Amino acid sequence: MALTPEQLVRPEILALKPYHVAPSEGMVKLDAMENPYPLPEALRRGLGEALAGVELNRYPDPAGGRLRELLARKMQVPAGMQLLLGNGSDDLIQMVTVALARPGAVMMYPAPTFVMYGMNAVLSGMRAVSVPTREDFSLDRDAFLAEMARHKPALVFIAYPNNPTGVLYREQDVLAILHAAQGVVVLDEAYHVFARKSFMPRLAEFPNLVVMRTVSKLGLAGIRLGYLAAAPGWVEQFNKVRQAYNVNVLTQAAALYVLERLEVLEAQAVRVLEDRAQLGTALAALRGVSVFPTEANFFMIRVADADRTYEALRRQGVLVRNLNSPALPGCLRVTVGTAEENRILLTALREAL
Ligand code: PMP
Repeated sequence: MALTPEQLVRPEILALKPYHVAPSEGMVKLDAMENPYPLPEALRRGLGEALAGVELNRYPDPAGGRLRELLARKMQVPAGMQLLLGNGSDDLIQMVTVALARPGAVMMYPAPTFVMYGMNAVLSGMRAVSVPTREDFSLDRDAFLAEMARHKPALVFIAYPNNPTGVLYREQDVLAILHAAQGVVVLDEAYHVFARKSFMPRLAEFPNLVVMRTVSKLGLAGIRLGYLAAAPGWVEQFNKVRQAYNVNVLTQAAALYVLERLEVLEAQAVRVLEDRAQLGTALAALRGVSVFPTEANFFMIRVADADRTYEALRRQGVLVRNLNSPALPGCLRVTVGTAEENRILLTALREAL
């Protein structure tokens, strides 16, 4: 008799919850830290022409050579370091994890943080050790260093700034981890365009430092492209885990076209930062809302009843992320939208509270 999924699938996979993405059609979408602005019309036309010339009948350049050159130039990757491309940084997180998942190997990260780190520990068979952040969601440096000494992690993930809290850890605290680490330390700089702080220039100082980025928050979430920079010895190994054609031809062509005009996306990020300041002030003025400081394009806020507020917002057509859990009681995460979207959010929130 045929065995069931419950009998055949690995128990740790059976126990996983799938990554949840709420339906968003017709909603004011403030749940996923996307750039709210479309590409300017002239760029869209140019992009259309660039994409029309793509040979869809051919496999992509497996290593994305031209795109890596462009990224190295535009993102100030230090000489001597190499780049690896991913189908989003989610793909890169998986590659690094799979490569380092020797039997018994430990992955560490401050928590709460991006759920994909822990998820990939499960998928790869690594043992995940999370160290709670302090009450203000800053890094508990001493606790983290003590746990590192105990577990000797092969891999440490630090989201810089962190998702979902928005906190940018102190540079000295991150440096202390880098100095103490024997294993690989990945600084996940997904929100770099907003935080404008980076360990990219310091790659040569730390042989096991990996700097990871994505174009998702810049305005290109739909094309799925992430990149990491590290010393060649690491990239050589991670590259073996990469699926041969993980970055498709349309993504490569679109990224080549748009990132050559990076200043357009950076100008949009500046707008988002201006709107973030206004939204932060307005949120803080609402009774019953506490706003946490942020260095990214979103706010974590706390309300009396997060489940009820989340639902009330949803009914009014505004989608945010509900973080309510024992680690983040009463918390919601709201992405900074356009000025108009932020106004709609504030009106809906006043109604919802
Ligand atoms: N790292 C962090 C810290 C993130 O918040 C996210 C997206 N939510 C990612 C990585 C994944 O980004 P991508 O779209 O490139 O897979």
